[in-house]
Amino acid sequence: MRAKEIEKKYVYERDLGTCFICGKPVRRNKMTLDHYYPKSMGGSTEVFNLVCCCKQCNRLKRSQVPKDWEAVNIALFQRAILDRRLNLSRLAQTPAEVYTLSQRVNAIIRTRYNVIFEAPGIRFYVSDGSISKIVYFDVREEPLDFVL
Ligand SMILES: [Zn+2]
Repeated sequence: MRAKEIEKKYVYERDLGTCFICGKPVRRNKMTLDHYYPKSMGGSTEVFNLVCCCKQCNRLKRSQVPKDWEAVNIALFQRAILDRRLNLSRLAQTPAEVYTLSQRVNAIIRTRYNVIFEAPGIRFYVSDGSISKIVYFDVREEPLDFVL
């Protein structure tokens, strides 16, 4: 199977063979892959931005940005880690540790080219099907001015 077909099969099984938009069952040979945050608007081609979609919904949706795109991308990012659909081999953490850390993600701070998922004090950099690095940074409860 070509990479694109393997990806399509994964998305179909992950989404339980139903259209992510209308919830109706979709036959495997009728399914389309929808970029949930539209590709034309700079949406990622990573697996966490791809959903199973019936032809009708895909046609109707065009380049509209769904209001819940960020929550959907975060949930599918966590799922992709769990399902080992993102390459973690460049990281020092174990897959279980990465999955635990990913549960704290609450924002996406960039969606073009490299996607950056953010949790308090942690950023996950994603590109080409891999989490390329995890960066920790200080989170200050209060601005320094208040401390002094
Ligand atoms: Zn549909």
